[in-house]
Amino acid sequence: MTAPKAPADQEAPHRALVELDHVSKYYGNIKALTDVSLEVHAGEISCVLGDNGAGKSTLIKIIAGLHRHDAGTFLIEGEETTLANPRDALDRGIATVYQDLAVVPLMPVWRNFFLGSEPTTGSGPFKRLDVRLMRETTRSELLRMGIDLRDVDQPIGTLSGGERQCVAIARAVYFGAKVLVLDEPTAALGVKQSGVVLKYVAAARDAGLGVVLITHNPHHAYLVGDRFVLLKRGAMSGSHTRASVTLDELTRQMAGGSELEELSHELERAPAPTRLGGHPVPGKPE
Ligand code: ATP
Repeated sequence: MTAPKAPADQEAPHRALVELDHVSKYYGNIKALTDVSLEVHAGEISCVLGDNGAGKSTLIKIIAGLHRHDAGTFLIEGEETTLANPRDALDRGIATVYQDLAVVPLMPVWRNFFLGSEPTTGSGPFKRLDVRLMRETTRSELLRMGIDLRDVDQPIGTLSGGERQCVAIARAVYFGAKVLVLDEPTAALGVKQSGVVLKYVAAARDAGLGVVLITHNPHHAYLVGDRFVLLKRGAMSGSHTRASVTLDELTRQMAGGSELEELSHELERAPAPTRLGGHPVPGKPE
């Protein structure tokens, strides 16, 4: 009798889509990143938290193929990799949505959705852009992500910042990204719009993508995150799974914990003087 077949997830260990293992990056003699490790799994959101200058942009640039790491290993689906350029990253299924989205504001939403990858119809001298297909696909793809835009013909510049982020996320999902890197997608948004964007970040995760969410906001990270890496001056100051950290702890670590306590001592008000310039202060008994 043959032994029963092991379930698929026992046969193959749950391999990360992207893994950084003790990655470092130097700009001349500036250490922008030192020994940073990060795992990105399908159907999960890995958050990278850090203040200004923590190394978040440098990390994105390595994953997006803009910069090469100087030490450590960068694995894509278990294979050690050095990406040649952003096109290479895209070809390997890594899509990056930057805060200042590369859109053409006066062009309609559907035109921006397909920018650079426009489908055509007809052949030879009759070849032309398949506008109908682009319009319909944009509408249906946005709807599939739960984004109900009134009109895909409106110029993308008329959408709110949050809506534009959502279109960019839907676009990456449609064009087959396996890994979606989001550069502070909620940084310039108000509370309500941030919530909407986070909903679509979760929708990308539910579509099976591995998401890297860069943010300086622990509340936003904790709403959706499965893993959390904290960066401080280029080094990792914490690495947690959701089960191993609470929002309070994440916020405390992000805020600098003991540094914050020290600051609050420094800012504590000294007792108000009872005399000013040799004269009693009205209302202050001497
Ligand atoms: P911010 O949120 O302010 O953009 P960040 O977390 O994205 O910050 P990085 O931009 O990755 O941080 O910068 C990390 C460190 O590397 C900083 O000290 C920065 O000055 C330095 N750095 C970044 N890019 C370069 C570069 N091209 N040349 C020299 N130093 C750089």
